[in-house]
Amino acid sequence: MTTLITHWAEGAPYAGTSGRTADVADPAHGRVTGSVALASKDDADHVIASASRAAAAWRSLSLARRTQIVFRFRELLNARKDELASIITAEHGKVHSDALGEVSRGQEVVEFACGIAHLLKGSQSPNVSTGVDVHSVRQPLGVVAVISPFNFPAMVPMWFFPIAIAAGNTVVLKPSEKDPSAALWIARLWTEAGLPDGVFNVLQGDKTAVDALLQSPDVAAISFVGSTPVAEYVYEEASRRGKRVQALGGAKNHMLVLPDADLDLAADAAVSAGYGSAGERCMAISVLVAVEAVADDLVARIAERTRSLVVGDGAAGPDREADMGPLVTRAHRDRVASFVDSGEAAGAALVVDGRRAAVRGEDSGFWLGPTLFDHVTPDMEIYREEIFGPVLSVVRVASYDEALRLINANPYGNGVAVFTNDGGAARRFEEDVEAGMVGVNVPVPVPVAYYSFGGWKRSLFGDTHAHGVEGVHFFTRGKVVTTRWIDPARRPAGGLQLGFPRND
Ligand code: NAD
Repeated sequence: MTTLITHWAEGAPYAGTSGRTADVADPAHGRVTGSVALASKDDADHVIASASRAAAAWRSLSLARRTQIVFRFRELLNARKDELASIITAEHGKVHSDALGEVSRGQEVVEFACGIAHLLKGSQSPNVSTGVDVHSVRQPLGVVAVISPFNFPAMVPMWFFPIAIAAGNTVVLKPSEKDPSAALWIARLWTEAGLPDGVFNVLQGDKTAVDALLQSPDVAAISFVGSTPVAEYVYEEASRRGKRVQALGGAKNHMLVLPDADLDLAADAAVSAGYGSAGERCMAISVLVAVEAVADDLVARIAERTRSLVVGDGAAGPDREADMGPLVTRAHRDRVASFVDSGEAAGAALVVDGRRAAVRGEDSGFWLGPTLFDHVTPDMEIYREEIFGPVLSVVRVASYDEALRLINANPYGNGVAVFTNDGGAARRFEEDVEAGMVGVNVPVPVPVAYYSFGGWKRSLFGDTHAHGVEGVHFFTRGKVVTTRWIDPARRPAGGLQLGFPRND
């Protein structure tokens, strides 16, 4: 019998009453290791009610006390992040060092949230009209929901909940049902840090759980991260009901290599950003755009590096840790492999075939090795679709202008990178390219916590990106207070005045 991975409400595990569950597997071994509760609407209401009950006391706790708890959470997380990384590797499959990297990037947002007091400061203007002062405040929204994808079970939720909690909101986190245990570990850590019961809650489940959050009148805001069709659905459903919503979607990230680039640097970057985490990153490079003059040389360097990668169990490694683990589920592995079939059938040149890769692990794992295609054209399915696996496509172009047209015509606009030693060209690219996050000789330009993360076009629905100042604004709303106190030396004051108030 496998363990039940429960919800979390009122500061304790909650099994729910739906009777529905889903298997959770270890992707490196292909074995079922747990069974996650799938919420019914009643279960969702129970968890949302836990967050609602905690909201009034939490928002009125002093800012000093709230941030002290966030700081304690940061200390515990920092001391024990290895445990969390192991949980991620066991359910997601990414190698341990990569899982640790994910936790560390999430921790940066916790650290940012420890200093939220500075960003919650309002402004004040004395005597804007005779005897009248104005000040502004930012207040929490109430109960907010975070709905996250499978590929970053710790970091993506941490883009949102540290700021939401520090700002005085209570949170319901709906993790991916594919790797749900990280969220429960985080919930326990919050309790250890002294967070009052009900401030952080976990709702496990699928579409039923998501729909319950979207429909609940008690949920004020939704932060969603996942695939574009679901992001668009969540955005439409939530905004139709008057909720604040930010819905981050899929991606197809391009890396442009200009002829003057350092080709070794570019090849290292393409391989690291294309195959890290088995390509299951929304900031992975999936299209390398090579200007024809250097394309042969560049593809040769990338192929050589790709063939040297070790694919294996992310948890083990007596001599050398694997570079790349398995894919998250068998179904996803098969879907990605079917894109390799499709690219081959469409006539792209298959330079490295991941279907035949040697693997250091059990045959029952969900393996697919790194795959490199050259001579990919924009009409091919492998160019058009988000593959979300270890498949890198090289598209050759004649010039910078052709490359820019290609990149800007893509419906997604999450991350993009340019590799060049020409500052002027890089500057022009930065100015012209239509994407939310741009790297110059940096292949995975994930912004630091005090800047904001988010794409353009079909990579983000809503106006506000994650974390940074935009994150603080998302989880608070502004209020402007206009005050008149009567100066005792100037009585009597007032009198009837039915015209529109004028400042003088
Ligand atoms: P997904 O869209 O399948 O799932 C995301 C969340 O939505 C999960 O919690 C899931 O339970 C829920 N969900 C799934 N189908 C639903 C439906 N029909 N109705 C309501 N809810 C539903 O995404 P995934 O496969 O878990 O994650 C991979 C995707 O996430 C990729 O497209 C990737 O690009 C994207 N992603 C984007 C970013 C970003 O910052 N833009 C970051 C990470 C991942």
